[in-house]
Amino acid sequence: LMQLSVPLNFIGFIYREIRQGLTDIEQMFDLLDVKAEVVDKPDAVALGVGAGKVEFRDVRFAYEPNRQILKGISFEVPAGRTVAIVGPSGAGKSTISRLLFRFYDVQSGAILIDGQDVRDVTQQSLRAAIGMVPQDTVLFNDTIAYNIRYGRIDASDEEVRRAAELAQIGSFIESLPEGYDTMVGERGLKLSGGEKQRVAIARTILKAPPILILDEATSALDSHTEQEIQSALDLVSRDRTTIVIAHRLSTVISADEIIVLKEGRIEERGTHAALLRMGGLYASMWDRQREATEAEERLRIARETD
Ligand code: ATP
Repeated sequence: LMQLSVPLNFIGFIYREIRQGLTDIEQMFDLLDVKAEVVDKPDAVALGVGAGKVEFRDVRFAYEPNRQILKGISFEVPAGRTVAIVGPSGAGKSTISRLLFRFYDVQSGAILIDGQDVRDVTQQSLRAAIGMVPQDTVLFNDTIAYNIRYGRIDASDEEVRRAAELAQIGSFIESLPEGYDTMVGERGLKLSGGEKQRVAIARTILKAPPILILDEATSALDSHTEQEIQSALDLVSRDRTTIVIAHRLSTVISADEIIVLKEGRIEERGTHAALLRMGGLYASMWDRQREATEAEERLRIARETD
């Protein structure tokens, strides 16, 4: 029986971890030390990151043979710039970030970082160069300090504190009776979505990767929290090559380029102002979102005056 219960416990562990945060692929793979479908080439070299330019060249991709998800995607994120990817649910936005991490290989085309094909470099060096702030962060059942330090395990207490402050979560942590030693995760203090996202930002500040992927939360945050998170994100993405997978259009206004995906193709691209002038898909998404935000706001005011 003992022999059986060990693997069963392990399966239970994996199951719980998967349930906890399917979106947090970066940590999932770290945690379970599972290799995805790809393996390093025998002659793979470490990625040499220079300025950090990211390039997608006519990328085609399918998870399953008969259903193409990306149908020829080309774009470039110049070093230090920000490109936002928007589009309807299921358009393939998150798939773009999974491919950049090389959790899957493209079917045709190529993804390059500073001119190096991601298929030619070691996965370890690739993932070390890319930081990810996911939609929903998995917290370990450990202290909040441990959870932040996960970004760089040799960071000092002072560096952890500084990262938390920059991520706008420092004063929250200090207000807790046990401060940085507070246990969080499933068995500890439950953090809100916005707090968890700020823990992820603090981790990323410690990791200080040259390339950043921000997968914005779909869940509605109150406007104060949203502003705090936005200013923390602006800070981490400054001077870093950044790809934002955006669900709330308000955060993409300042992007250097916005890519509008629809059914695996780039439908429109340009700056916020240019796309609004175009009066196409982006402009209509923008109108719809603005109406929704205004309706929410009216509801909130009505509730407050009740
Ligand atoms: P959302 O805004 O809803 O997060 P998205 O634009 O990020 O959507 P993706 O997550 O990239 O969309 O998914 C694109 C399509 O690929 C979807 O139709 C989805 O069902 C499919 N898909 C995603 N992951 C897998 C997978 N592991 N296996 C098979 N199909 C998948």
